[in-house]
Amino acid sequence: MNHRPRKRFGQNFLHDQNVIERIVLALAPQREHHIVEIGPGKGALTRPLLDRVDKLDVIEIDRDLAPHLEHELGQFGRLRVHQADALTFDFRHLARDGRKLRVVGNLPYNVSTPLLFHLLEQVDVVEDMHFMLQKEVVDRMAAAPNSDDYGRLSVMVQYFCKVEKLFTVKAGSFFPVPKVESAVVRLIPHAQPIVTVDDPTMFARVVGAAFAQRRKTLRNALKGVLDQERIVAAGVTPEARAETLGLQQFAALSNAVAKAS
Ligand code: SAM
Repeated sequence: MNHRPRKRFGQNFLHDQNVIERIVLALAPQREHHIVEIGPGKGALTRPLLDRVDKLDVIEIDRDLAPHLEHELGQFGRLRVHQADALTFDFRHLARDGRKLRVVGNLPYNVSTPLLFHLLEQVDVVEDMHFMLQKEVVDRMAAAPNSDDYGRLSVMVQYFCKVEKLFTVKAGSFFPVPKVESAVVRLIPHAQPIVTVDDPTMFARVVGAAFAQRRKTLRNALKGVLDQERIVAAGVTPEARAETLGLQQFAALSNAVAKAS
């Protein structure tokens, strides 16, 4: 197929067979697994996955690529192509038979963060996720407190999932060659919450506010959300900065807001 890669859809097609094999190996698909691929593109991952499973759902926004995949790979009746925007896609609907989804994709980097947040909202129907992302984003997802990479993304992702950085991928593995390095990450949703959060919306708000100006002390960053006494009552030092807090402390802060109101 003669397809000009579209920048607006973050199209960098994977052509490195070795990397494709490593992703499939990491995923270790079994025939009965319900796998959902985001952004199949020209099918670099779709083909080897389709060889290994009975049924595969793929979500592709590009109106040229989606019918092409359907035409190329749809004949066995095992591939379902959804020509749709993954950012608004209802993943729960795919899991209505009660089986959890294994989500995989070489994600479009320009929308990777909102896409991750969209998936975290539906994480109750997700078994695990394997994503190729910009290496920098994977480093932020996996970061521990007190490091430059630690921020809102680290806290929110780690609240919902165990994060495992699997391996890095050189820019030359894609066409067109992206300006950044990539990495593959595995996310496994926690079976039970690892910290107690009374109100998840408030948790997200507190984490967002705390990191909005990361150089500020919590006392300043949380102004209007939580006063100094409540921060102290939550067991957190008001002079501390967001980047020094772990999940437990963010949970304590957000629970303190719920108690205050
Ligand atoms: N999986 C292919 C590969 O590895 O060669 C393509 C990966 S490419 C980085 C990202 C793919 O996601 C493209 O096919 C692009 O059209 C698609 N895409 C971009 N934005 C999307 C969105 N919002 N929803 C669904 N697919 C999207």
